[in-house]
Amino acid sequence: MNEFDFIKTYLANVPKDKAVLLGIGDDAAVVRPDLGRDLCVSSDMLLEGRHFFADAAPQDVAHKVLAVNLSDMAAMGARPRWVLLSAALPELDATWLRLFCDSFFALCAEYGVSLIGGDTTKGHSVFNVTIIGDVPQGLGLRRSGARVGDDVWVSGHIGSAAAALQHMLGKAVLPEPAAEHCRWALLRPVPRVALGQALLTLANAAQDISDGLIQDLTHILDASGVGAEIEEDRLPVLPVLRECLPEVVRRQCVLAGGDDYELLFTASPARRAEVEQAARQCQTEVCRIGRITAQRGLQVRDAAGRPIRLARGGYDHFA
Ligand code: ADP
Ligand code: MG
Repeated sequence: MNEFDFIKTYLANVPKDKAVLLGIGDDAAVVRPDLGRDLCVSSDMLLEGRHFFADAAPQDVAHKVLAVNLSDMAAMGARPRWVLLSAALPELDATWLRLFCDSFFALCAEYGVSLIGGDTTKGHSVFNVTIIGDVPQGLGLRRSGARVGDDVWVSGHIGSAAAALQHMLGKAVLPEPAAEHCRWALLRPVPRVALGQALLTLANAAQDISDGLIQDLTHILDASGVGAEIEEDRLPVLPVLRECLPEVVRRQCVLAGGDDYELLFTASPARRAEVEQAARQCQTEVCRIGRITAQRGLQVRDAAGRPIRLARGGYDHFA
């Protein structure tokens, strides 16, 4: 199979989306944005050996490269619309590509996005997705809007994906079925797209957690010129992680682990009931973990109220 067979037989499924005036097959796609909406554009890539193992299932790689991009749209409160997929592959293996594409298109369908283009080259395995979404004009969520006195919220559970990685690397032991549950969190993150859109008029600042709670919350604090106090015992952590991981490993996973793809956001305490109702409507759990302070910096306090010393902020590719 050559590059053109791959594009023609695996990728060129005609999107049903009327806003796609021209899809895969020309030099560029043509899309028509809705009047009164701003476009949000982002991209994220996965490298073999860094973001996924060489023997990773193609379905998992496809899911993750799209899910992490959908998560960026969620963090903006955007409705995801279109994606471009660029792939470097050492060879075009029909079986592998079929599984990859089926998984990719299944997630596209679930979130109502259309694949409109991309690029394919030979090389060490790399997958990049560029995603385009939209928000009502002027309304996108940002990192820079946190205000003193805001509650800090997080969706779902955090630390599970990092715990799975520790387990897979043989550095920690999780019992079944918790290990499988955590592996699922690592390989098949659920982007909080509906919640993001529901928070558009409720949250003051938002972002998704990809590099660990501390690191990503610090981005919100820096962008907003504020600080925060977080209570460790309020963090939504699977009970099994508290039971089975040594404290130092658990803290590393929960506070600095990364790969959670949960939403981290701030909102006025006056909006608490509305935030909870929005989350219920999206069938997503949310949890209030602390508050925004005028005092700069981030304090995480343990159950006794003592500040926890944070050994490493989060995951920095160049650290
Ligand atoms: P060009 O030479 O202009 O870069 P290509 O031959 O690379 O064009 O691509 C032909 C068409 O196939 C284009 O519409 C491109 O967007 C699409 N395409 C190529 N690779 C991919 C991919 N991995 N995923 C989606 N679309 C792709
Ligand atoms: Mg090309």
